[in-house]
Amino acid sequence: MTGPMTEHFTGNFTQQEPIPEEAIEAAVAVLRHGRLHRYNLAGGETGEVALLEEEFAQLLGAKYCLAVASGGYALATALRALGVGHGDRVLTNAFTLAPVPGAIASVAAEPVFVGVTESLTIDLEDLEAKVGQARVLMLSHMRGHLCDMDRLMEICEAAGVAVIEDCAHTMGASWNGVPSGRHGVIGCYSCQTYKHVNSGEGGLLITDDAEVAARAVMLSGSYMLYSRHKAAPAPEVFERVKYVTPNISGRMDNLRAAILRPQLRALDTQVARWNERYRVLETGLRGTPGLTVVERPAAEVFVGSSIQVLLLDWSAAAVEAVLARCAARGVELKWFGVPEPVAFTSRYDSWRYAPAQSLPESDRILAGIIDMRVPLTFSLEDCALIARIIRAEVSAVWQSDL
Ligand SMILES: *Cc1c(COP(=O)(O)O)cnc(C)c1O
Repeated sequence: MTGPMTEHFTGNFTQQEPIPEEAIEAAVAVLRHGRLHRYNLAGGETGEVALLEEEFAQLLGAKYCLAVASGGYALATALRALGVGHGDRVLTNAFTLAPVPGAIASVAAEPVFVGVTESLTIDLEDLEAKVGQARVLMLSHMRGHLCDMDRLMEICEAAGVAVIEDCAHTMGASWNGVPSGRHGVIGCYSCQTYKHVNSGEGGLLITDDAEVAARAVMLSGSYMLYSRHKAAPAPEVFERVKYVTPNISGRMDNLRAAILRPQLRALDTQVARWNERYRVLETGLRGTPGLTVVERPAAEVFVGSSIQVLLLDWSAAAVEAVLARCAARGVELKWFGVPEPVAFTSRYDSWRYAPAQSLPESDRILAGIIDMRVPLTFSLEDCALIARIIRAEVSAVWQSDL
């Protein structure tokens, strides 16, 4: 018999669910006919990519959609489509992942970092203070936490700042009933294996702005085949941009689109399953001494594909002890406060291609952020067990006064 102190978790934190059978069949059909390139169509055929774009635009209530090679490519394309280039400054979150400042650097622009609050959202006071420094905000809904989007849009609209939303962790989320990605001028999504739909790699970009959409389509490498798109603007819009928009190839192919279409149809079901797991973890962790649960606002519909808690003002040695003790019992936690970038985790001061910036209040919060993935291969019982393990180990280190 093993008591609660010796419980051990044996699941895998990076193991996603298999691709659904329906998606496998659609993929095999594409392989059988061999027309993988999005513009390689039989007579009268629309193609999986154009259908995916049409369906995603409809799902989000957007006029236009473009499917591309990755989420990071979608972000860079969004910047280019808004004319951001060499030496321009772009506001963005200090708390995000490397593809976001990377997209800004890829167009030779400079990130201006905006701080993070204890809610793990962008600090709107810091944004107000810095909003005059740029004409674009690349807003990362990092780890699925949505800020007060109504207030954010007020600040940006008043300052004439265009908002690009990085929805890599918010596909399926909304604020006050408006889907994430529909507040700003452009919304960007990732279809990479660790996000909410899985085609290995892939990205989606949505907008209601016809010129932005036409430029994005040209940028992605449409040559002069843009009439083969469905969720794209009318040919006359392309006439205005086609000679002055470079081709920076980053198209999606029909194989990935075929895998994604059935997954999009199942998104709501998957979101509900993620949130069931998230709530079990949250309930199990709430009230742990020294640990702060990040409370979710009522206006937010989120997707609990990961969970964050704060060990605020803990010493580095104590946080490291928690991580080591949890790891010894099979629970893999990530720490955003780690001084050296590890795996997916890095901090704004590790992106040294950007001008050095100092955000002491954010440093305090980043130093306390503990992050955990919640793959759908975990059962509710797994989640309850993980919460028990974290609770026990955090309590043990808290009491040891490290
Ligand atoms: C994954 C991710 C991206 C980019 O997605 P890729 O498809 O991997 O290029 C952008 N922003 C955040 C916050 C991400 O986690």
